Amino acid sequence: MTIEQLKDTITAAGCVGAGGAGFPSAVKLAQGADALVINAAECEPLLYSDYMLMKQHLEEVAAGAEYVMEATGISHGYLGVKEHTAHRLSLEDGQAISAHVTVKCLPNVYPMGDEIILIYQTLGRIVPPGQLPITVGVIVYNSETLWNICHAVRHSRPVTQKWVTVGGKVSQPFVVKVPIGTPVKELMKQYAVTVPDDCVMIDGGPAMGPIINPEQAVITKTTKGLLILPKTIPAISSKLATERTVRTHASANCCQCSLCTDMCPRALIGYPLRPHKIVRNSLPLMQQHPENFTEASVCCGCGVCELTACCQGISPRGVYQQVKGLLAKAKLRYEHKGELRADPDRDYRMLPSERFMQRIGVAPFDTGIPTYIEDAWQPKCIHLPLRQHIGAPATPAVKVGQTVAVGDLVAAANGMISANIHSSVNGCVTAVTDTEIVIQVQA
Ligand code: SF4
Ligand code: SF4
Repeated sequence: MTIEQLKDTITAAGCVGAGGAGFPSAVKLAQGADALVINAAECEPLLYSDYMLMKQHLEEVAAGAEYVMEATGISHGYLGVKEHTAHRLSLEDGQAISAHVTVKCLPNVYPMGDEIILIYQTLGRIVPPGQLPITVGVIVYNSETLWNICHAVRHSRPVTQKWVTVGGKVSQPFVVKVPIGTPVKELMKQYAVTVPDDCVMIDGGPAMGPIINPEQAVITKTTKGLLILPKTIPAISSKLATERTVRTHASANCCQCSLCTDMCPRALIGYPLRPHKIVRNSLPLMQQHPENFTEASVCCGCGVCELTACCQGISPRGVYQQVKGLLAKAKLRYEHKGELRADPDRDYRMLPSERFMQRIGVAPFDTGIPTYIEDAWQPKCIHLPLRQHIGAPATPAVKVGQTVAVGDLVAAANGMISANIHSSVNGCVTAVTDTEIVIQVQA
């Protein structure tokens, strides 16, 4: 298959980054790469969706990688997987899982799933800040994305299902494969999951995932997990702080110990992030001269500075997020010049996953590998957001009253940075709005 044929196939199937970013997968395909890295690091605590997918369908993940490598002329691929996950899957470092893909065991540290860190750990290459992995000859796909690519190539099957971990403060964490568009409240009812008053629900991992309203949220192409966690643990209380609190606390209480910079995973591979410096600046100064703070755009938001390094409860990540807003308004981006060099002490400053879980308060909820629920349950109706990806929302391709089947195109990509959306159920379209398509399931 040529690169153009593969692009057409995965564009038609609506493949986007399944790891959380939602970047249209075809856009990543380019000539000039010599390595493919499968992101199976499952970066954040309590998530087991990628593990469960690989346990059951590793051959299909590897096949997806082989299709990409054949089309792009890449000679070797690496399954980037943490040591503990490799052990659970009975895989060893260097083991071949297909003709051109071998296992690369990664240390059990956070945030190993950050694409930039993953590439450095796997290949020793530093992606220049603000640029894409292809600049250092690498293409990275999440394991679930490659599973979707495999299905698109082998069966012309579009993306309609999602592997989701339901965990945290629940009686029994589980992983389930559900139709995209499933309302979270229906899923909770089906599997007897509740959100107690002293808890919130997180979409994704505890450190980086946003708080969501389970009454309104739906499963999208990027949902990896639904975690129910107490409001009082550090991972959650930091999300509940207002912007003003973040700023005033930072400028009033920072003792300039610089531990946040010493531990920043991206600073440790040479990125220009200096969180201990950003917290010293006042908002008016940043508003007047955002051009002096463009390095904020290369912060990945991992939260190591805030959730582990800082002993004063300050959020350099929160300050960087506010600066990112200013940069977006002013249409400014960081432009890198010069050489990059990783810190020689990096190996001693990486953050063990176990320690991270304890610091952010989620260790009590890591009760081992969750149950896998395999059933054919379907919700009564699905809500398909027209934007489940980075880029322009898809354009509706169906009308109210129209009957659709699983896999039918219901919204078409709107330009190159967009994605097709397909029905994940057999049913009848009951609403088409500016933001979503609603389909009533027919038995
Ligand atoms: S969130 Fe903090 S630790 Fe993470 S990349 Fe940004 S500055 Fe560094
Ligand atoms: S770790 Fe906290 S106190 Fe130390 S420099 Fe960073 S923000 Fe300031």
